Amino acid sequence: MNVDDGGVLSANHLSVSYAGKTVLDGVSFGLKPGEFCGLIGSNGSGKTTLLRALLGFQSLDAGEVRIDGKMGKAGLHSVGYVPQKIMLDAEIPLRARDLVTLGLTGKQLGFALNSRAVRQQVDAMLREVGAESFADERIGNLSGGQQQRVLIAHALIRRPRLLLLDEPLANLDIRSVSEIVALLRHLCIVHQVSILLSAHDMNPLLSSMDSIVYLANGRAASGKTDEVVQSDVLSRLYGYPIEVLRVMNRVLVIAANASSDVCALTSPPENLMKA
Ligand code: ADP
Repeated sequence: MNVDDGGVLSANHLSVSYAGKTVLDGVSFGLKPGEFCGLIGSNGSGKTTLLRALLGFQSLDAGEVRIDGKMGKAGLHSVGYVPQKIMLDAEIPLRARDLVTLGLTGKQLGFALNSRAVRQQVDAMLREVGAESFADERIGNLSGGQQQRVLIAHALIRRPRLLLLDEPLANLDIRSVSEIVALLRHLCIVHQVSILLSAHDMNPLLSSMDSIVYLANGRAASGKTDEVVQSDVLSRLYGYPIEVLRVMNRVLVIAANASSDVCALTSPPENLMKA
């Protein structure tokens, strides 16, 4: 099957290996304008590799990526990216608004910082992500949730049609997680930007995401969340029996091994405890 329905993103039969070890094995899915999609899988399942492949940073053994119908660099103009684990040291003399400005002007920093039009655009973007009250703080002094807002503004200021975020919810407190998810949902609706957000725990996204790409075994199951997060679908994906349990508005994905012990596949034990 080829996923090419005129959407913002189509990933067709993507395969990636490292030194002969297959990490992605024929992964296909697509995103429509304004779609909020969770890229879900346990650590090491290939989420970062897939995002890097979409961005053209990772060479493919097979398959093709189209963004806005275009392949290669031509499509990348339509993409914003928030990478995982950016180290933002308190010593870096960069204010939140400087980082957002760089997203717009890149190398033309000196000239562009003096442009009133640029400043207005940056101010509007900072307001939109709820970052205006700390716009003049050093980026390294901000909390994790505040930094995520600024990084999202940096990635969005050129108004891409597709926004890729690699584990943006990792290491955030529960309140910041729900605020960032609500912000991203808002941006999807207002700007019709499509979002693909990777996470090892789908629970914070359940009420917001339109669709899911679930990675396991190098393969993906994709579609509407309720249709994909089913015992039979995930059992086929993993290649052994899986139980999907819904408990107090949370989803637990567990595997029964030969001795009937269960283990969490998508959440570390501490997250299970929070359920
Ligand atoms: P995730 O983002 O889901 O944690 P990754 O895409 O980072 O998964 O990694 C998928 C697998 O590929 C892991 O087994 C990881 O060790 C391996 N891997 C990732 N990057 C490299 C690399 N540059 N060289 C070799 N193996 C890699």
